[in-house]
Amino acid sequence: MINREQCLAWDKEDQLNQFKQHFALPEGVIYLDGNSLGAQPTAALSLANHVVTQEWGKDLINSWNTADWWGLPTRLGDKVAQLIGADSGETVITDSTTLNLFKVLSAAIKIQAEQYPERKVIVAEKDAFPTDLYIIEGLINQISQGYRLVLIESNEDLYSLLDSNEVVAVVLSHVNYRTGYFYDMSAINAKIHEKNALVIWDLCHSVGAVPMELKQTDSDFAIGCTYKYLNGGPGSPALLWVNPKHQEGFWQPLSGWWGHQQPFAMAQHYQPSQGIRRYLCGTQPIVSMRLIECGLDIFLSTDMQLIREKSLKLTDLFMQLVEQECSEFGFTLITPKQHKHRGSHVSFRHEQGYAIIQALIARGVIGDYREPEVLRFGITPLYLGYEDIWNAVQHLKNVMTHAEWKNKQYQIRGSVT
Ligand SMILES: *Cc1c(COP(=O)(O)O)cnc(C)c1O
Repeated sequence: MINREQCLAWDKEDQLNQFKQHFALPEGVIYLDGNSLGAQPTAALSLANHVVTQEWGKDLINSWNTADWWGLPTRLGDKVAQLIGADSGETVITDSTTLNLFKVLSAAIKIQAEQYPERKVIVAEKDAFPTDLYIIEGLINQISQGYRLVLIESNEDLYSLLDSNEVVAVVLSHVNYRTGYFYDMSAINAKIHEKNALVIWDLCHSVGAVPMELKQTDSDFAIGCTYKYLNGGPGSPALLWVNPKHQEGFWQPLSGWWGHQQPFAMAQHYQPSQGIRRYLCGTQPIVSMRLIECGLDIFLSTDMQLIREKSLKLTDLFMQLVEQECSEFGFTLITPKQHKHRGSHVSFRHEQGYAIIQALIARGVIGDYREPEVLRFGITPLYLGYEDIWNAVQHLKNVMTHAEWKNKQYQIRGSVT
């Protein structure tokens, strides 16, 4: 049996304990949604103030140079690179994950069309975050050259498709947004490359949550959000990484002036930038982008291995406590128990999932709900401790014991669920 005292003792010896002070969270809230919208770094408020009053308010247009607004996509990209196992000059922060998928998939298709023109299959997961599937559909439709999307449900599906030698590219979520399933990047890359296909990793639920080595494992492309585990702020621009071996080969079709080799030459024709900047399109939301640095600097002052160790301990604890305290309430764990296949959130299925989440939120325990019937709890080791997990599970137990979820108001769906 695990008890509260044990959790308090773990908090005491926790090396990451002091990081909580770098995040602004309301009193009385246990925030288990940092995988969807990361908490606010306390430094964000004063930086936002500086950006608005000084950089925009006083320095005005000079800030493109004096505050290096122009260099932000690559400067921040080089910081993110340190968290994803990439080198400088390979990553940009720009646009959204959705748009960035369009760019890198275009690149993958174009590169492959030169060598394997007969290949027409794009592979993605049936359980992918839907925007990824929609973009693949949209791009296939747009280029109209007989490409088709084939959905997989398992690694076996992937391997047998690869055996057909028809696969152009595979789009995978490094950590699944719903179940928390975590791919072995190195093993999957090897399988995909063995059959001369390319891989695009969607890192939305893994960047800032698990250590990774994009380059060492020879990944081809990666995209991902900065507003989830990286605490960049709502809607902050996304990351895009390209293996340098593919960087020069192709320029992406959203060929706007920010990706031009000489943007201020105002030339009549597009000439892609030599480096990763060719993946930029147009003017970026600078105020939002500026704030990403606060979260990144916190991550760079710690260690992804330590974060991973604590994440696994916290997710283990969450699973064990739900089993110990809530076994009679019908929750089905859908997150892998195996560490090597678990990201940093824990999900359960329950037919009253939606109402249970609403009842928890009313108690200050913020998790979220995903169709179908999934309760999802994000675990962010930099601002959550062991006692928080204990308390969250006690709230869950109370919601179930007193059937609080039956309250009518918890059945009402908001426009964002
Ligand atoms: C959150 C998420 C997205 C969201 O993309 P946006 O362009 O930021 O809306 C895409 N893919 C996955 C896997 C996600 O979890």
